[in-house]
Amino acid sequence: MNKKIWLCSPHMGGTERKYVNDAFDTNWVAPLGPNVDAFEKGIALYNQVGYVAALSAGTAALHLALIMLGVKAGDEVIASSFTFAASVNPIIYQGATPILIDSESETWNMCPQQLEIAIRDRIDMGKKPKAIIPVHLYGMPAKIDQIMAIADRYEIPVIEDAAEAMGSKYKGKPLGSFGLMGFFSFNGNKIITTSGGGALVSNNESLILQSRFLASQARECAPHYEHEVIGYNYRMSNICAGIGRGQLEVVDDHIARHREIFNYYKRELSIFEGLTFQQEPNNDFYSNYWLTCIQVNPEKCGGITRDQLRIAMEGDNIDCRPLWKPMHLQPVHHDKPFYSTGISEQLFARGLCLPSSSNLADEDLDRVIGVIKNMLSKALVKKMRMSVN
Ligand SMILES: *Cc1c(COP(=O)(O)O)cnc(C)c1O
Repeated sequence: MNKKIWLCSPHMGGTERKYVNDAFDTNWVAPLGPNVDAFEKGIALYNQVGYVAALSAGTAALHLALIMLGVKAGDEVIASSFTFAASVNPIIYQGATPILIDSESETWNMCPQQLEIAIRDRIDMGKKPKAIIPVHLYGMPAKIDQIMAIADRYEIPVIEDAAEAMGSKYKGKPLGSFGLMGFFSFNGNKIITTSGGGALVSNNESLILQSRFLASQARECAPHYEHEVIGYNYRMSNICAGIGRGQLEVVDDHIARHREIFNYYKRELSIFEGLTFQQEPNNDFYSNYWLTCIQVNPEKCGGITRDQLRIAMEGDNIDCRPLWKPMHLQPVHHDKPFYSTGISEQLFARGLCLPSSSNLADEDLDRVIGVIKNMLSKALVKKMRMSVN
């Protein structure tokens, strides 16, 4: 069996162990500690935001953001349909209803036109949405300037889901820094990892102070345990933050390699008219290319479908996945309001994520490309012969 090629696996830089050892040596094997403080400072600096709370997960960050905006049972919150379930779950935790917005075709992210239609429609129906959660999927910036302009016009706060997009930029400004709040994920498969973890970021200091308070069981300032509101156990541990400190030293190398991998696939696979890429629409957009994503058009691929390609790669021990299944197609969300462009359904039907780990060698990429080229060229030659006969 060929060596396994992962979609996106943890990639240690080397100094992570030193920070984790420091935690052991000083017995800071606890939630919070010097690694957490330093990691928060590093995240703030890297993403050009004022304040950061290091948390146990990106999902926890979004949950706290919604709580701080006062989202409660019966409220409505606008979200992208084309995303991972964690972008929407915390809305449900609060008893609120997600209003799902479809994608536009250029970045595959939230369509600004449908966003505005939805806001007007919900206001006409008597409920102004409490928040908007645009997602920068696979690291690709959403049309964040248009989304912010609409949000500002209707005075609705924005929480950017930049879980997959650390280091991506729009017009040179890091994602996560546009909205009132933003969040990142440091799950094992993301651009950098703390094994598991996340961060809430904002330029509003009191929001970050409040999030740290809520994330540590909402303990009031008193010698005994005093509670005026309900808290959560959402802080990051000092061990995990040690991994994160080491990862911050190599994040730019990771992103450079993710971008190289995208360009490598694009150069090798652009010969096939039936394969199209999720790519930066113009120079305003700068993606970390967390995952390289393609669409497979069977009519132009000699009849070969996304699933045939996926299964062929699986057979060669190559990890690749369909794109995220949109939330409006998920059984658990079948009853949620949805503002459609038709785009995310097509993306889900034809889209494939290619292995994009920053620790992949060119030989690994050649193996992936080999499987695709082999399958498509055979099918296209066969089709050509048939049309000649
Ligand atoms: C990973 C991810 C999250 C959740 O982050 P966790 O750290 O896994 O809780 C949220 N949104 C998107 C788009 C993600 O990819």
